[in-house]
Amino acid sequence: MDPALGPPNAMAEKRDELTPMMAQYHDLCARYDDAIVLFQVGDFYETFCGAAERTARLLEIALTSREDSTGEYPMAGIPIDNAESYIEDLLEAGYRVAVADQVEEPGETSGVVERAVTRVITPGTLTEDELLASDDNNFVAALARENERLGLAFLDVSTGDFYATSATARESIADELSRFDPSEAVVGPDAPTTPVPDDCMVTPFDARAFDRERVGAKLAAYFRNPDALLATDAEIRACGALLSYAEYVRGGEHEGERGDDERVDAVFEGDAGQRLEYITQLTRYDPREYLLLDAVALRSLELFEPRTVHGRDDATLIGVLDETASALGGRRLRDWLRRPLLEPARIEARHDAVAELKAAVQQREELHERLREVYDLERLIGRISRERANARDLRSLRDTLAVVPEIRAQLADADCGRLRKLHETLDPLSDVRELIEDAIVAEPPIEITEGGIIAEGYDNDLDEVRATARDGKQWIDDLEARERERTGIDSLKVGHNSVHGYYIEVTNPNLEAVPDDYQRRQTLKNSERFVTPELKSREDEIVGAEQRADDREYELFCEVRREVAAEVERVQALADALANLDALVSLATVAAQYDYCRPDLLEREGRDGLEVDIEGGRHPVVERTQESFVPNDANLRPERRLAVITGPNMSGKSTYMRQVAQIVLLAQVGSFVPAQAARLTPVDRIFTRVGASDDIAGGRSTFMVEMDELATILRDADEGSLVLLDEVGRGTSTADGMAIAQAITEHLHDAVGATTLFATHHHPLTELADDLAAAFTLHFEVDQDGGEVVFYHEIAPGAATGSYGVEVATAAGVPEDVVDRARELVADAAAAESGADGNAGERTDDTDSSDRPRADADGESAAPATADGGDIPADVAAELRALDLAHLTPVEALTELDRLKQLLEE
Ligand code: ADP
Repeated sequence: MDPALGPPNAMAEKRDELTPMMAQYHDLCARYDDAIVLFQVGDFYETFCGAAERTARLLEIALTSREDSTGEYPMAGIPIDNAESYIEDLLEAGYRVAVADQVEEPGETSGVVERAVTRVITPGTLTEDELLASDDNNFVAALARENERLGLAFLDVSTGDFYATSATARESIADELSRFDPSEAVVGPDAPTTPVPDDCMVTPFDARAFDRERVGAKLAAYFRNPDALLATDAEIRACGALLSYAEYVRGGEHEGERGDDERVDAVFEGDAGQRLEYITQLTRYDPREYLLLDAVALRSLELFEPRTVHGRDDATLIGVLDETASALGGRRLRDWLRRPLLEPARIEARHDAVAELKAAVQQREELHERLREVYDLERLIGRISRERANARDLRSLRDTLAVVPEIRAQLADADCGRLRKLHETLDPLSDVRELIEDAIVAEPPIEITEGGIIAEGYDNDLDEVRATARDGKQWIDDLEARERERTGIDSLKVGHNSVHGYYIEVTNPNLEAVPDDYQRRQTLKNSERFVTPELKSREDEIVGAEQRADDREYELFCEVRREVAAEVERVQALADALANLDALVSLATVAAQYDYCRPDLLEREGRDGLEVDIEGGRHPVVERTQESFVPNDANLRPERRLAVITGPNMSGKSTYMRQVAQIVLLAQVGSFVPAQAARLTPVDRIFTRVGASDDIAGGRSTFMVEMDELATILRDADEGSLVLLDEVGRGTSTADGMAIAQAITEHLHDAVGATTLFATHHHPLTELADDLAAAFTLHFEVDQDGGEVVFYHEIAPGAATGSYGVEVATAAGVPEDVVDRARELVADAAAAESGADGNAGERTDDTDSSDRPRADADGESAAPATADGGDIPADVAAELRALDLAHLTPVEALTELDRLKQLLEE
């Protein structure tokens, strides 16, 4: 136990001396020892002792104190009414929260009120709508180990989405973790935590939950044939443990449930009684069924997060792709993007649907409008099933069911298989809808215990008690007139107050006319208030009837809720169909709005390389922010699979490379692509090493990060991979960098056979293309206009002629004489590089494969000529050669020039 979370040790030692309430608090803290226990006392959730000090500090709330027979101790509390926002702060600060509610009415007991933990709130197991992003899943993962194999399971407790996989390589597990991006990972006693990303909370969990036998029983409570569903013991253990965890955090709010200790034990013992009914599906997958994107690729292709810290949130692939109308569709689209498909038939089924919806403008718009009326069915049915839904939730379900027939009608004439299937599966659940319509009033209150929920005519008993209450009230409404007539007192009034109930009020001058059966209740300044025995009994009848009506309503509501919950699988199937439809409509909307084309998918033969043939391709994200975007082609095939791309800084190299990868990825998601035409073989895996000098992760140097990523690529890439390399080897000296870049390129070409886009400003590397059979060069055209560089962003065959760093310096306003001098120096350096024959920028033709461009810098001893014929000292020449003009800021260039000039003058 973290002593700061629970009661201090001194209290633990004195457990027997504590007051009954504090003993209860103490026991709950001991049971939920990794959480902050929020302990209901009336309208507040209180924390005491060490936990109070900590919560007061974290939440900036007042630290007070409490005194009882054992002494004085700190206390800090939050109002229950807006507990959620405080709980959110505690989660953000990295804590788990156990909510201990009073589970009996204070009036019902003579001793201390019974409390139980009704839910444990952790980042990965949230179900509260206020704490969840509506269009994204929130997963909790579990990791279990069986010999060499790691099992991995993901569950979204709010929706019931449940996945499992396993692998022996930790890297694969790490890749899957970055794909699903869980906010919490439950780990078994012997599972490693190294693949878990830093921003994911690690929760060590009771070893019993991972035990193979208990896990078997647990899974059997949920699924018919779990062993057939899951492939390995490691997966089975991860899934079983995750179910136990979900049951454990749900807490025990239900009637007749056992006390906390017994309940938690039941969870671990695989007791089916704790089952969460809305977890009905488990998808076992093999990572190789999907296009594999590791954390680096997810980031550099900007699927979900902008690459730069200051990037706009919509500057992501999901940002440009998401035109979904419902939360269901939003989550589905993210799932598709997370797991692009490999199998052409499955991909084409989506393309068919997108094509059909793209063409049918009116139908698509109508569908979009109707889908906007669809509530988050998955979370609704989750809440209904967990008995946390109110009457409004049921009405929301009903409202969604009401639009299903309209949605279905739009698909009546659908052509393609996918849409026809959706038409079939869109079950409007008329029985459920009718049940809710009959039972629940149109606009029920939020509270479920205070009546006003159940519709007239739904239940005879209820109608009867309501009639009794109504009759009673009518009798009272008429009472005033009757008594006025009987007593002759015209000013006589009947009223009601909360303390005395109903009364008859007579002003002082009329007191003489009061009949004998009037009994005095209250004396006011100018009047007296009376009751009669009959009024009293009528009143009791009304109050009794109203109370009975409220109770009956609650009972009926719970019954209806249970009846709806029993249909969980049908509601989930409907939610699934609506999610798919919304995602497809969204893809079609984007395709129509932004002029995307349908990609042609090519079958891949055996271990053949890839074909990527794109005509007029655009970067889906950059084209949205750019006034005019220049489309570019790409043409890669097995015998032409390695492109060396050159061009000055800012000419469009990395945009181009990423657009190729994103087009491939979008096509495999099932989307149309931003291009005139595209013919593609599905890619197994995309690797990226897109250099960014701000890429410092985990305290490692940029260079280390880069080499680490390169090592992964070289180890794991094959003919089915698409590899993007942008400026590799930048984190070290030029000579080293070039050597590394060359060796890597050769290896990718010769040994790996991956389809590779390789951008470099190291000009000599373009010569490499001549020596590698399947390599070719591309470059970005730029022009100089009066000394200024004009970027065309247009790709062309061949190598660029120079890096234009100096021109960029002019454009940036570096003084003319400095730029002139720089030009001289560049010319010299080029001359030196090409063996002092003045053949700057061109390749000597007599190279053969044994004579690939030299990546080392051993030409330093040959002193090159300066423009005025004098010698440049070898050290200056070496420094000049090493100067990376393409990546210097104008000011750095200036400083560097100044220093070199001084060296010359020395
Ligand atoms: P490099 O990798 O060569 O340094 P980038 O790919 O980063 O260059 O491109 C620099 C900028 O040029 C981009 O931010 C974008 O604004 C613009 N750009 C790139 N490609 C295009 C294009 N095809 N059409 C229009 N603008 C482009």
